[in-house]
This record gives sequence, C-alpha cells and structure tokens, in this order.
Amino acid sequence: MTLALGAFTEWVQAKGGEILSPTNEWEILRYQTSENHVGIIWQNKKGLHTFSERVKSDYPVFVREAGLAPTEKTERLLGAVKRKQKSRLLDRDGATCCYCGQFFDDPPTIEHFHSIAGHGNNHDDNCALACQPCNLVMGSLPVVTKIHRRDQIREAMLDHAPWEYFDARSLFNGVGIVALEVQS
Ligand SMILES: [Zn+2]
Repeated sequence: MTLALGAFTEWVQAKGGEILSPTNEWEILRYQTSENHVGIIWQNKKGLHTFSERVKSDYPVFVREAGLAPTEKTERLLGAVKRKQKSRLLDRDGATCCYCGQFFDDPPTIEHFHSIAGHGNNHDDNCALACQPCNLVMGSLPVVTKIHRRDQIREAMLDHAPWEYFDARSLFNGVGIVALEVQS
C-alpha cells in the first residue's frame, strides 16, 4: 500500500489532531493527537517510510475508516505479524481464552484490551488471545466493563457442573446481557 499521506493528514486533523513542524529533514509528518500522543512518519533517501508506534496504531484505523484496500503484499505482511504475535501470546498466556478461560476450539483471535478504535495500540501489553465469541461480546467496550463481563461469564460457569454443556458466553449479545439459559 502506498502511503496516503495527504488523506492521512486530513484524517488526523478531522480527529482533532494538530499537525506539528518537522524537527529534522527525515520527518514527513509529525502530529499530536487530541490525547497529546505524538505520531511521526519518517522517509529515508530511498523513499522508504518508518512509522512511530502511534502511527502504527492510527494508520490501520485510518485505512479502515477511509475504506482503502490494503494490497496483497500488505495483507501478507500483516498476516505474518499477527501469526508471530499470536504465538508470543500463546507462549505467555497458554491456550485458553483470556475472558471465558476455555480452551480454544477454533483459532484464537487477538483481543485488544484498549480497542484500536479507542486509540489502543498493538503492543503485547495491550493484547491477549480470546475466543471469537468473547472477542465479539467485548467489542470496543471500556476495559472496566470487559473485566466485569469476564467475571460474570466465569461466575456463571461455576454454577454449572463440568459435565453440563453451558456456554456462558451466551449471557451476552452485542448489546448487553441476555437472559441466562439454564440447561439441565
Ligand atoms: Zn472466550
């Protein structure tokens, strides 16, 4: 994907960010977000770009919101980055969902505690593996709400014998709590 610098600059400003003056010749964009985070894009002599951590978080959100299609190469690179991160998180936390605590029956997803849309980042510190249903249930809720839901899911599971089939994730839909379905 070629860098859409002009459109990205406009997007930063539309989000309440401020464009700052570059501090050296390599900087092609320096900005400050409304939360006072600074993002920088550098360009070297060969025209290659380097992104600061802030830009690495912001640019994918911009791409998604602007509806730009990432190229196949970008997709492949992003896929490799994701696979590496998943294996790191698997080593760190084990093969269970960070919310419901169940083993993954399907490939796990990467959960961002502070959502990317809410200006969270991709650092491992902000990420953990979650099953697909939990990831959907949590969405981009505030972290406190996510923790509260996790506790409710785990508590509900304790009320059921291990041999009973009970999917505590069904406690929630995308909006909030739905009726607790007791199976006997
Ligand atoms: Zn889960």
